[in-house]
Amino acid sequence: MKTKRPKASAPPILLTNIGQLVTLRGGAGPRRGRDLGELNIVEDAAVLCAAGKIVSAGTRREAMRDRWLQSRKREVREIDCGGGVVLPGFVDSHTHPVFAAPRLIDFEKRIAGATYEEIASAGGGIGASIAAVRKAPRAALAEIVLSALREMAAQGTTTVEAKSGYALNVEGELKSLEALKVVSASWPGTLVPTLLGAHIVPAEFRDKRGEYLRAICDEMVPTAARRKLAQFVDVFVERGAFTIDEARQVFAAARKWDLGVRAHVCQLTPAQVGPLMEFDPASFDHMDYVGDDELPLLAKSNTVATLLPGALYFLGVTRYPAARKMIDAGVAVALATDYNPGTSPTTNMQMVLSLACTQMKMSPGEAIAAATINGAHALRMAERKGSIEAGKDADFAMFAVRDYREICYWFGSNLCGMAVAGGEVATP
Ligand SMILES: [Zn+2]
Repeated sequence: MKTKRPKASAPPILLTNIGQLVTLRGGAGPRRGRDLGELNIVEDAAVLCAAGKIVSAGTRREAMRDRWLQSRKREVREIDCGGGVVLPGFVDSHTHPVFAAPRLIDFEKRIAGATYEEIASAGGGIGASIAAVRKAPRAALAEIVLSALREMAAQGTTTVEAKSGYALNVEGELKSLEALKVVSASWPGTLVPTLLGAHIVPAEFRDKRGEYLRAICDEMVPTAARRKLAQFVDVFVERGAFTIDEARQVFAAARKWDLGVRAHVCQLTPAQVGPLMEFDPASFDHMDYVGDDELPLLAKSNTVATLLPGALYFLGVTRYPAARKMIDAGVAVALATDYNPGTSPTTNMQMVLSLACTQMKMSPGEAIAAATINGAHALRMAERKGSIEAGKDADFAMFAVRDYREICYWFGSNLCGMAVAGGEVATP
């Protein structure tokens, strides 16, 4: 699916009176090592946008001297940022928003110390999400996704990767992707749909997993590609889900249909990612248990390691991924919410930044770059997203703070006052 282009009709806007404009400009490829924390901040700044794109970004004084602006001052809508901080809109590059209900049984049972099996037999677990999504009409799913996306925009997120993966049959996975397509037309941000038919093997295929793999490779992938319902195909590589060899089969099918690939990997157990590299994955996500031996290979590649600390926080796990080690080894690291009903029910990238700093020892600058420009690289959209530079999409998040580090410092509240996506104000 071609992602929605900003509307050419969006009127010119001038963001002005920006105390700190966090541009993240410059540099080819994802940010690595020391460069990760290089934010390229402009103080007392302004940004001019037209037709949904950034025309220029710099100091306010430079902006005021711009001839184009001077000649069309009356047409331009001016947005006073009150001396606050402006970032590129967050790129949340890993979410599972197509579900029907929160998983409160899991939540309460897990707190009480129940095992995975006990939760499942009490009517919780992923089985509950699968049953509910299979039953839900497309319009109902679209409504649920839209309300999550609105919440995300209100918190500064303007680009969201969204996976199917809670139906796990051909009809239900396509219905989930159709729900995303419906929603992408009415949300001003950019939605990047991913087919996650390979989430787990559903119960009815437990003894015939080859048949389920064929359903993914021969039906879900080709139909999603033909109908332009997905840009990526994802596989959950884990004990109890899919093996590396099975992931290779799914990736081969995706590549045949010209879809990008990404994988959930090393969430609970280590895995050797080498055999997946020939498919040029856009990202490997979770990476909680990635081995040190894998890091040089990742550092040489354009595959982004997307870390999801919200899931660990919510599960009460204290062993966070070794972000410092990955960054120091030159691996490109991104941050995302992993928004989903089982393990990470949050839409808030600001909370993820807080977790990245306090639990994974990333600096505030590194966390912000991982949540913007490197998220854009994880979606292979960095030519349009993730930094504030002329020619890129006019996607911004404004914060009512004086210093960008405050965005990571204050936790549990929403500091975003306004988001702009494709040159349009995206917050109520
Ligand atoms: Zn996930």
